[in-house]
Amino acid sequence: MSTLHNMVDMHKYRSLLALLDRYDNFALSTHINPDGDAIGSELSLYFFLTQLGKSVRIFNTDTVPTNYRFLPFWDSIEGVGSVGSYRPEVLVVLDASTLERIGKTLSKILVPIHILVNIDHHATSEAFGDINLIEPSASSTSEIVYTLIKYHQTPISKFCALCLYTGLMFDTGCFRYSNATAETHRIAAELIEIGEFAPDEVYRSVYEHIPVSKIRLLSEILRTLKVTDNGKIASVYATQAMFQKTGTTPEAVEGVVNQIQAIAGIEVALCACELRDGSTKVSLRSQGQVDVSELASEFEGGGHSRASGCRIVMPYLSAITAVVHTAQRYIDQPSTRCGDSFKD
Ligand code: 5GP
Ligand code: MN
Repeated sequence: MSTLHNMVDMHKYRSLLALLDRYDNFALSTHINPDGDAIGSELSLYFFLTQLGKSVRIFNTDTVPTNYRFLPFWDSIEGVGSVGSYRPEVLVVLDASTLERIGKTLSKILVPIHILVNIDHHATSEAFGDINLIEPSASSTSEIVYTLIKYHQTPISKFCALCLYTGLMFDTGCFRYSNATAETHRIAAELIEIGEFAPDEVYRSVYEHIPVSKIRLLSEILRTLKVTDNGKIASVYATQAMFQKTGTTPEAVEGVVNQIQAIAGIEVALCACELRDGSTKVSLRSQGQVDVSELASEFEGGGHSRASGCRIVMPYLSAITAVVHTAQRYIDQPSTRCGDSFKD
């Protein structure tokens, strides 16, 4: 911990901690379609702030997905309808690269009296807060929250450890991606010891409670697989008709793109999802040659160099054609090669 980098780092964390100490009333929020890191980081910060005697409420646009309902206090997370005239002194937005990612309505009605704090690990983060703690080198937003608590020297509670671990596990693809560093593994080990939970049970809770309807949807989606002639770009799509047929929603498409990415020889994998308004959500994954956060930003999206997404106001087939065309251009231009590598 003696390098200049670490001292600069420490200063950033310490000044945020000093600010948190000054206020009593907090609201937390995260991005729409929340994932393991989104829910894990906001619940762990909730436990930490509550431990410090603060009054904390969490507001999310979307409900907690059923596979995260094993996390302690998940049901204390409130919806947009509960905001009313409530004004927190401080609003902390976690794991969202733009304020709008918490949801259009929520971003307008949940307004802090004093300070907006942005804690995130997306390289494309817009630094929209009054205070921004953005660490693109962190595996997950949960890892940033872990470091924040460590700098405060407050013992991490059991509940908090479980939520932090879930965030780390999710964003590293169960410690498979290159964002899972030695440090990430050390933190995970510490959290397992503190939380006294069984990591295999956490894994099963998150990944092995798949409703059969989602597997039926998956079989529909896989039938749409297309690979470009050079074998480098693979795409699939999910339509509203498929959701109706299988009794699912776009939420069930989460994770499909990671399977497409596993095809041998693929550089870019994409999964397009037709939304109810006829627009298309595209999830992108890269094996390293193409920086897909740059690719997504051409369509007003963002994310990480190896995992990104965007929403395109086009029917799904046209959206796929546009993204595949652009991805091909990136493959033909080696200068767009990505440096770091990340999942969510
Ligand atoms: P996923 O494809 O799993 O939904 O998202 C992969 C990554 O891209 C995540 O880091 C997520 O935050 C980011 N991402 C997905 N969709 C969007 C989007 O519409 N806008 C931005 N800025 N980032 C996105
Ligand atoms: Mn994340």
